[in-house]
Amino acid sequence: MKDYLVRAIIGEGDARVLAARTTHLVEEAREKHDTAHTVTAALGRSLSGAAMLGAQLKEEGIVTIRIAGGGPIKGIIAQADHQGNVRGYAIEPRLFVPLKEDGKLDVGGAVGDQGKLYVTYDLKLKEPYTGVSELINGEIGEDLTYYLAHSEQIPSAVSLGVLVGPAGEVRASGGFMVQMMPKAESSLVEEIENRISKAAFISSLIEEGLTPEEITEKLFGEFKVQFLEKRELNYHCGCSRDRITSMLLSLGKEELQDMLEEDGGAEIRCHFCGEKNVFSEEEIRVLLKEF
Ligand SMILES: [Zn+2]
Repeated sequence: MKDYLVRAIIGEGDARVLAARTTHLVEEAREKHDTAHTVTAALGRSLSGAAMLGAQLKEEGIVTIRIAGGGPIKGIIAQADHQGNVRGYAIEPRLFVPLKEDGKLDVGGAVGDQGKLYVTYDLKLKEPYTGVSELINGEIGEDLTYYLAHSEQIPSAVSLGVLVGPAGEVRASGGFMVQMMPKAESSLVEEIENRISKAAFISSLIEEGLTPEEITEKLFGEFKVQFLEKRELNYHCGCSRDRITSMLLSLGKEELQDMLEEDGGAEIRCHFCGEKNVFSEEEIRVLLKEF
């Protein structure tokens, strides 16, 4: 069962819906970064959110969610492109966080609620655009809902969830996002909100085996649902030695000179996939000739 998302419109185009299953890609993120239970949930929710924002890009581009909450996790980055490639990391992957009193993972406590959520759209041809909003509770779903409503002025509801098993494995992960169109009738908005508030946790629906289409139908089946697109989602870093080389060059001559003199070369580890790239003394000397 591959991960994917669907895009749909409901009613007479009154709202856009995205529903995503991300179980495998979040498990892959956990394996790559060796994340502890609560970090897996926090990173997984962020990855699902990024995947859904990425799917709404009309052209080639990358969307980056950056969460800086002041909690012990210190920060999360999640990125996705319009082709369903998703990647991300947390600053403190191995962080242990005690469970909440109700036995649930304390994502809000790990992320913190005193901070900001940034969303950057890099559409290649234009200057990147970054929107920002305050965090509400650090649980990420509500934070993203608030961001969309306040920074992008789209009344939205976002639900994100990751079910982590006792051994830390990802048992289910996914999310849905509803965005109201400006012309939607207020009675319909109310009805949709009502449906969402009564919905089971998205991770439970996915664990039960519901597909993104079935989740959309379950939530909004009584309105007319029209599926527009199905898109595969994968954890894919896309880093390459070429890109890391240009990153090294962008540091400038002096920085490279320092690396040569102090370290006798460079070892660059990709934050997103953990891949190590070693540049020997000789290779740095070759790069220095570019200046
Ligand atoms: Zn990488």
